[in-house]
Amino acid sequence: MCVDCGCHGSDAHEHHNSRRVTVERDLLAENNSLAYDNRRFFAERGICALNLVSSPGSGKTSILERTVAEMGGLRPVAVIEGDQQTANDAERIKATGAAAVQVNTGSGCHLDARMVAEAVVELDPPRNSCLFIENVGNLVCPAMFDLGEAAKVVIISVTEGEDKPEKYPYMFRAASLCLINKVDLVPFLDFDVKALRESATAVNPSLAFVELSARTGEGFSAWLKWIDDLSLAMRRVSGEGG
Ligand code: MG
Ligand code: ZN
Repeated sequence: MCVDCGCHGSDAHEHHNSRRVTVERDLLAENNSLAYDNRRFFAERGICALNLVSSPGSGKTSILERTVAEMGGLRPVAVIEGDQQTANDAERIKATGAAAVQVNTGSGCHLDARMVAEAVVELDPPRNSCLFIENVGNLVCPAMFDLGEAAKVVIISVTEGEDKPEKYPYMFRAASLCLINKVDLVPFLDFDVKALRESATAVNPSLAFVELSARTGEGFSAWLKWIDDLSLAMRRVSGEGG
């Protein structure tokens, strides 16, 4: 797993196998405990936190830019941007008028619950806001790190392979919704949307889908409705409304 990729510091490079397994288990247990605290914090404030995961280049930031615009100020939006380097994506989000904080992971390849907790202190998302957490572009280890989100949303664009869900099943299994982006390009490609949906459903039968285009805006009403439905369900669970 991800301990091999250098994101957990020097003790991750311990060669002895059982020692390494212990390090991995402790790291995930600590992360889960911090994620629990994050989730409680969000629930108490009616914040709908979504963890957006995908390969690099699938259009996460473009989707968020358009999402902020389409929400039209009906609901406050805050964004945590995760990248190894640069604040480019947070700058793009701030240009839309939404609050954003950039987290740089350096050599690390995923966000963890502690990074999110620290970013939330800085961001201070308002009550009943929608908090989008754009994870580092990586379909592997972000699947294992609970950030305290209400749901993971996996994004795949039609310029990628239809068989990605079978190649990266953990991520597609961890996600509640799959956004299929850049569908305006389908007429110019050999991409088979049906094959992608079948591949994803094979690894996660309960996965929901929305086909959209951050460029043209098609499909965004279905995406926003999915967020509204989830928020409503969360409010019912926490007994604050409904
Ligand atoms: Mg981005
Ligand atoms: Zn990682």
